[in-house]
Amino acid sequence: MTDLLATLNEEQARAVTLPAQHALILAGAGSGKTRVLTTRIAWLIQTGQATPQGILGVTFTNKAAKEMHARLAAMLPVNPKAMWIGTFHGLCNRLLRAHHRDAGLPQLFQILDSGDQLSAIKRLLKTLNVDDEKFPPRELQHFINAQKEQGVRAGAVDAFDDFTRRRVEIYAEYEAQCQREAVVDFAELLLRTYELLSRNEPLRQHYQRRFRHILTDEFQDTNKLQYQWLKLLAGGESSESPACLFCVGDDDQSIYRFRGAEVGNMLAFEREFKVPNVIRLEQNYRSCGNILDAANAIIANNTQRLGKELWTDRGEGEPIRVYEAFTDGDEARFVVDEIQSLVRDGMSRSDIALLYRANALSRVLEHQLFSAGVSYRVYGGLRFFERQEVKHALAYLRLIANPDDDTAFARVVNFPTRGIGARSLEALQDAARTYNSSLYATVSHLSGKPRAAIGAFVQLIESLRSATANLPLPEAVDHVLDQSGLRAHYESQKEKDGRERLENLDEIISAATNFVAENEAPESAVEHPLLADFLAHASLEAGDHQADASEDAVQLMSVHAAKGLEFDVVFVCGLEEGLFPHENSLMETDGLEEERRLMYVAVTRARQRLYVSLAQSRMLHGQTRYNMRSRFLEEIPDTLTKWLTPKSGRGQAPARPSHFSPSPASAPRRPASAAHAPGRDLGGLRIGQNVRHARFGAGIIVAAEGSGSDARVQINFGAQGMKWLLMSVAKLDPA
Ligand code: ATP
Ligand code: MG
Repeated sequence: MTDLLATLNEEQARAVTLPAQHALILAGAGSGKTRVLTTRIAWLIQTGQATPQGILGVTFTNKAAKEMHARLAAMLPVNPKAMWIGTFHGLCNRLLRAHHRDAGLPQLFQILDSGDQLSAIKRLLKTLNVDDEKFPPRELQHFINAQKEQGVRAGAVDAFDDFTRRRVEIYAEYEAQCQREAVVDFAELLLRTYELLSRNEPLRQHYQRRFRHILTDEFQDTNKLQYQWLKLLAGGESSESPACLFCVGDDDQSIYRFRGAEVGNMLAFEREFKVPNVIRLEQNYRSCGNILDAANAIIANNTQRLGKELWTDRGEGEPIRVYEAFTDGDEARFVVDEIQSLVRDGMSRSDIALLYRANALSRVLEHQLFSAGVSYRVYGGLRFFERQEVKHALAYLRLIANPDDDTAFARVVNFPTRGIGARSLEALQDAARTYNSSLYATVSHLSGKPRAAIGAFVQLIESLRSATANLPLPEAVDHVLDQSGLRAHYESQKEKDGRERLENLDEIISAATNFVAENEAPESAVEHPLLADFLAHASLEAGDHQADASEDAVQLMSVHAAKGLEFDVVFVCGLEEGLFPHENSLMETDGLEEERRLMYVAVTRARQRLYVSLAQSRMLHGQTRYNMRSRFLEEIPDTLTKWLTPKSGRGQAPARPSHFSPSPASAPRRPASAAHAPGRDLGGLRIGQNVRHARFGAGIIVAAEGSGSDARVQINFGAQGMKWLLMSVAKLDPA
């Protein structure tokens, strides 16, 4: 028997060995929360207090779930697959597949990722003849998801004005459309499972009796519905023998409030369950002193905190390296040069991470890495399963599994083109509405030309279905790629990315092969067809097949995606006002505090060495922007940093905001296009300043460029959006 407690400190060991009661572990970054949670699972099993089947472990990402499985496999002589460990979405998918009939779903229901959901909404608006300027699809998507995350169905929304009433009607139509098409979006996975368990008492009791220990990592980022879901499974406060809830979290790392996460869940949990054990861990084992001090100093600027400090006995370590580049290209070159020299000194690439606030920043970094021949792997961003050609291929597979999936139907009915005109499709949409049936089922009601054209497509799908029925999954995929015409289509494409697209199509076969290999374990071989499982996996685990995971590669990801991870060396790029903190957050304190927590997460990923960098000018979304140094950089005490470039006077101290116009003498290098640098002629306005515009109302200046009569400022007008205005034309009053 391995001594699980040997490598834990006293408080950690106390947390791991708590009696079978509810517990809350509230602790800062790198203090061992995840390690404690994993070790507790192992300890419960090792001491016979729980069986692997009795454990429900909730992680935030698929990557974290995999890691947890691997660590448990190393600690215990049991098959960790017997334990239910996964993300909320993954666990809900598993429950809904097993009990699809009780949940009112066909066995082969499909999952809509957020891109699919958006196109489903757009399609709905067309059918309903709704003006998408008045009701922008993205806003509707946000509205619908927000309702679902509050556990509110269309019938239960309180609507006090016409606008909201109309939105609610669309929400109801959307629910009906999804049900008709047998598709389930991400928020629905949770809500549907919640409703299933709350209505179906025998089922609920079954799982309540089964899962005696429910352990949740990153608890600070659960939303209201997720918390209700946990409560329901645990047996709530009212139950006689509720399961033990073991929740770990850090309020300072709550970074999903914009998506409805409620940090208040931690306090609610403590209160509602009268949690007898609240443990704080204060020793950080991850980062050297300077890095930790910087993190502590940054987060100290937030007001909404439960309050805790972290310390380390690892010594102060290296100073934080700061680099202020002239352009984004220079910044990327610097980063890649540093990486190459680190690698020459023996560091593995996979111990190095490049973090950025917005995915759009990865492009320039990727370009440099690629040119220098440094292998890298991007997490998030355009993921493998989100690529156009992959989604086309999956749409064929989805139609085979579920012909009522209208999103899939609309995607490929005329792709590759088979001469189906917009008119025929409109006729089909109309008929589908009249018959209240799916597009696929409606084809038989059509007549004339539309029927001939679309009928051939239906026949194609039918023949694909029968041809693949008895094939192993990878061969079935291969067959579909050929017979759908997708391969031939991309082969004939002259564009340079045609080849890459073909490779991606082949990559789906590899993904299917891996999937089959990984899913032969007895417990996970549930009694439903592999194809549906594979499609669910594609929707849930996007990103995991994008590069060869075994290769030693530099890790690129957004700060959000880096949560819970750690690396020897971390570069945080793009530390500019408007980027990080993001311009959309500057209007409200809450938004700014969330950005600061995000910065805290970024900094605390580093073990030994931290670089922070910025660029004075950056090309983003086709525009050159000149931004000020991020306030977060200013919040790091000078004693902890080492500037690799001369420190320019462009900084923006939050308490004493500086004005535009770097004095040329203090700028590290003169911009080649100095004429376009923000000049002095902006009438005393500065970035971060609140202004008022006659038409758009109140706003805040987030960026500036050009000079003289070309001088322009970018202003965030909140609900009115972000605008670039010419200074010589716009009438702006300081507010
Ligand atoms: P985050 O808030 O970022 O999720 P965390 O609190 O979950 O961090 P862990 O990832 O569990 O922290 O631990 C951080 C690092 O410290 C890991 O490398 C872990 O193995 C190590 N660690 C934790 N506790 C100890 C200990 N008692 N002795 C040595 N190393 C430890
Ligand atoms: Mg963790």
